[in-house]
Amino acid sequence: MPFARFIDTLLSLLFPDRCAGCGRLGTLLCDECRHRLVVYDGDPPRVADQLTDVRIAYVFEGSLRHALHQLKYHRRQRVARPLGGLMAAHLQSHPLPCDALIPVPLHPKRLKERGFNQAELLAREVAAATGVPLIVGPLVRVKATHQQALLDVAGRIENVADAFAWTGPAPPARVVLVDDVLTTGATVNACAAALRAGGARAVYALALARSRGRTPLSHR
Ligand SMILES: [Zn+2]
Repeated sequence: MPFARFIDTLLSLLFPDRCAGCGRLGTLLCDECRHRLVVYDGDPPRVADQLTDVRIAYVFEGSLRHALHQLKYHRRQRVARPLGGLMAAHLQSHPLPCDALIPVPLHPKRLKERGFNQAELLAREVAAATGVPLIVGPLVRVKATHQQALLDVAGRIENVADAFAWTGPAPPARVVLVDDVLTTGATVNACAAALRAGGARAVYALALARSRGRTPLSHR
């Protein structure tokens, strides 16, 4: 048993898991909460001219919204495991022709505040489950942006324009961007522009969830 897995097992014995959706003991995401997930079948994102295609797994509501909140704001990083597993399952049932997974990066300042990038944790789970390589590092957030929630669509596009840069050697031809919540698509679209400028030919987006109806609160 690798050491990290051993420590993980030890911790789970000392601190039993609670469902991130409903608080039930014994699991990180219980069957009941899983059954309540609503498959996303709503509109595509409004801002996607740089994206080849977009996959969104679930509607951002109920237990999923709660679970994601636990991951990001209560810093329960283990919750990325079942949530990333849901994304991997979605990608396996809605395949994309891709060479690598790249999480949407946080600005270094935000990364320092939170201590981790939730999109990266999710992407790691997807990579582990699907075998698609993960690339973390060359795609960077070079501009600290305002909260997207406070802005309309035009403001969101403007806010994230030139916010990202590809800093490595040429990226793989076909890349899947991974993010937790997708709203207008402006953020992943700006990432895709940076990847295309770096040489990527096809850029897809995979998100765990998206609201339907009214614009949700910001996720960053
Ligand atoms: Zn539950």
